[in-house]
Amino acid sequence: MAKSLRLRYYADRAEFVGWTMNDQESRMEIIRFGKLLHERGLTAATDGNISVRLNGDSVLTTPTCISKGMMAPDDLVVVDMNGRKISGYRDVTSEIVMHMTVYRMRPDINAVVHAHPPTATGFAACGLALDQALVSEVLLSLGSIPLASYATPGTSELSEALEPFIPDHDAILMANHGVVTYGRDLTQAYMNMETVEHFARIALVVRQIGCEHPLAAEQVSKLHEIRQRIQHYKAELPRRA
Ligand SMILES: [Zn+2]
Repeated sequence: MAKSLRLRYYADRAEFVGWTMNDQESRMEIIRFGKLLHERGLTAATDGNISVRLNGDSVLTTPTCISKGMMAPDDLVVVDMNGRKISGYRDVTSEIVMHMTVYRMRPDINAVVHAHPPTATGFAACGLALDQALVSEVLLSLGSIPLASYATPGTSELSEALEPFIPDHDAILMANHGVVTYGRDLTQAYMNMETVEHFARIALVVRQIGCEHPLAAEQVSKLHEIRQRIQHYKAELPRRA
């Protein structure tokens, strides 16, 4: 279907099913970033999941068992703040507990992305955090990326393993599993995932070259100060979907 026809179809569909503007925009954004996750190799097959906080008492999320690169707006599911389905014909993602834990612990967060990017997941499978001060820009955007211990996917134990890191980090490696990132909007949550995988590739090259040269503590603390200012500035920006 041509793009203009497709947009018209979804506009009509939104009116028919009673989606609000916020709901409709969030659906289109999840589909857009789902395609990016798939096309850039951050997920494969039906891996990964995405969610967006719609308002105070509901969250829009991807369903289980679907490629994140091949979703339509109708495929998405709305859940309450306990992760129970409110609407949608598909079943909710099995990782909904993890998403809801992030929203519960971080009122500033409005979007969560979970994926299995190959290089970062490789570090997680080796039991290695991405917490070395190797690249200044990563320290500015994410600080360090810790490693949470392994727990079975889709269980509350997985959320418990993440909980100690959620307050102070926007990206976490999950041992022998993958990565979760989040942000004040979906653009930020997605970009955090890209940053994690990009940094993992750099960290891998550093290991291959074999002469690590991390930043000194004083250099790290200067970057930390700048990061605080950037975080403050970002918090003032208008939120996208
Ligand atoms: Zn997973």
